[in-house]
This record gives sequence, C-alpha cells and structure tokens, in this order.
Amino acid sequence: MSLKNFFDFNLQTLKQFLTTDLNIEEKKTSMRAKQLWQAVYKKGLSEFNHLTNLPIELRGELSSNISLEKPKIANTQKSSDGTIKWLIQLLDGNKVECVFIPEKTRGTLCISSQVGCTLNCRFCHTGTQRLVKNLNFSEIVNQVMIAKEQLNDWQEQKIITNIVLMGMGEPFYNYDNVKMAVEILKDKDGLNYGSKKITVSTAGIADKIPQAAREIRTYLALSLHAPTDEIRELIMPINKKFKIKDLIEQCKYYAKTVNEKITLEYVMLRGINDSKECAKQLTKIMAQFPCKVNLIEFNPWPGVNYMPTERKEMESFSKIIQDAGYVSTIRRSRGQDILGACGQLRTESQKRKFN
Ligand code: SAH
Repeated sequence: MSLKNFFDFNLQTLKQFLTTDLNIEEKKTSMRAKQLWQAVYKKGLSEFNHLTNLPIELRGELSSNISLEKPKIANTQKSSDGTIKWLIQLLDGNKVECVFIPEKTRGTLCISSQVGCTLNCRFCHTGTQRLVKNLNFSEIVNQVMIAKEQLNDWQEQKIITNIVLMGMGEPFYNYDNVKMAVEILKDKDGLNYGSKKITVSTAGIADKIPQAAREIRTYLALSLHAPTDEIRELIMPINKKFKIKDLIEQCKYYAKTVNEKITLEYVMLRGINDSKECAKQLTKIMAQFPCKVNLIEFNPWPGVNYMPTERKEMESFSKIIQDAGYVSTIRRSRGQDILGACGQLRTESQKRKFN
C-alpha cells in the first residue's frame, strides 16, 4: 500500500483513515485524530516515533501508513530590511515563493495560491509566468508550516501573527483549495489563526466574492488599482470580464456579511492612475461600502515598463482621500532587494508539454 501524506487529510478524512485503514476502535478515533492534529500543527511533529504518549504499536502503524513529508526549501534570501523570501520546491518538483515580513508589532507571512497566474496584470511580475498549476490545499498550508519550522514558531504564534494570501496566483481561481486551506489555518486544535488574522486578496473575481463571504470569512483585500473601467482595463485584463460596478456590489455584500471593511489595494503607477482626478474618483467608489485604501508603492522588476509614483505625489493622493473622510495608508515596500515585494514573485516552473 502506498503511503498517505498527512497534510492531504483534513480532520474528518483523518478520522476516517484511522478507523478504516488502521482499524482504530471507533470510540478512540476522535481522540487519536486530535492528538495527531495537535502534534503536527501545534508542535511541528516530524516523526510519529516522537509521540511517546501513543502505544508503540500505533506509532509503528502510523509510520508505515502515513508520511509527514513536506515540500523543501530550495533557496532562502534575506533582505537588508529583515524580509525573508523562501523558494519552496513542492513534492511534484514545481516551485513557489513565500515571504515573511517582520514588523515591530507583528509578523506577516505572504503565501501563494497558484504556481504562476492567468491574470496577466501588466504591472505584476507573476503575470509574466504562465499558470502552471493550482496549489493543493496541503501545498498552501505547508508554506505556513515550513515558515514556522524555519522561524521556530510553534505552539503560540508569536512570530507569524498574520497570514496574507497575496503571493503568486489568484486565490479565487483556486477557490476550493483556498477554502480548505483557510479552514485548516483556522482550526483551533491546529494552527489556530483567527479570521481576523488572515487576509485573502483577489483581483476581483466578482462571482466568487459572495461565496467567500459566506464560506471563507476572512478579511478581504481587493486589488482595485484604478478608479475607472477605462484605466483598470489598461492595466488589468480581468476588468474586461468583471467591471468595477460589479465589484462594488459584491464588496457591499462581503462587508455586510462579514461585518468588516474591505481593503482596497491601489498600486501607484506614475502617469497612469495617480492623478488628483483619480483620487477624487476613488473616493466616489469608497463612499459606497465600508472600506479603506492601501496605496502600494510600485515595485519594479526586470523588463517592466511602469515607473513608481514619487513619494510626495503619493502623499498628496492619500491626503485627498483622507480629506474626503476615508482611511488611506501607504504600504511601505519591503524586501525589494530580493524581489520579495508585492508583485515581484516569479519562479522558473513551467507547464510541462507532452508531445
Ligand atoms: N491575485 C491576487 C493576489 C495577489 S496579491 C490579487 O491580485 O489580489 C499581490 C498584490 O500585489 C496585488 O494587489 C497586486 O496587484 C500587487 N502588485 C502586483 N504587482 C505589483 C508591483 N509590481 N508592485 C506593487 N504591487 C504589485
């Protein structure tokens, strides 16, 4: 029989496996499943033999039926600002990146949902890598596990306090795996991240936003990046399919259902979307649902044609929004020197062609 990988289970399928494949008495499966779940997700268990509170035969059974193998780190880069970028090699050989951003009062881990991306946003480096595959939920969760291992952040999450799905890929084009991964991240017996510690960022797959409001229920960030369909379409081809008007409706619903503000992300591209007029138009959108805007410094990458907006200009753009009564913050760029900042992630993985 081939080994099952522990990370491909959720709590329910783990229980099933313990009953049907390992013949554990039914009245004990819940307890055993919980013990294993806690050992792996809270303490970073790497071998069943270390579980000295389990009968020795059971440890043996577990080791011969379930593997605890995780993807491996293929490369680590540290930025001068403390940001760390890990290149992770998945068990199937594909590579994804994930980034840890330490700040004074918190630590954010930015994880990926796909290898490559289909969206082709013109300013985004990942957009130049074609979609290779959707990550399985275990591959999404394992980015967190690997980062925790590297930072020795077991038991309480003291180091990685927040998780953002803002790495490579579009989370809502891999909806089911993202939903399952978020469930595992939230599980109280496991990683125990609260809904308010997780942010899912979308380029605006409008038809998935209501479903996410009902099922995923984390913070939502919307990559808006432009106040009109004309400008948005120039920089984000997805806007041909989902218009700003639809996004506003779906964000209204999300904010109401989850009872939280939506974060609008707005990357500032010199001469494209950074005029005073744009700022005023943006406030008209912001008037329609509870939200705040996060202005993002554009991070250049090799071969890109856009330029960042000057800091002074960003500040006056921000002030127009604040003067209209809304929250506007400027996201400082982190990890630029290691291509670890927003929109800079890309790996050399390619879809294999079969002839
Ligand atoms: N596909 C999702 C998740 C990716 S999040 C989404 O679009 O929201 C990555 C964030 O970084 C998005 O807001 C994206 O638009 C932004 N981004 C992409 N390229 C960037 C760049 N070069 N500089 C700054 N931000 C960028």
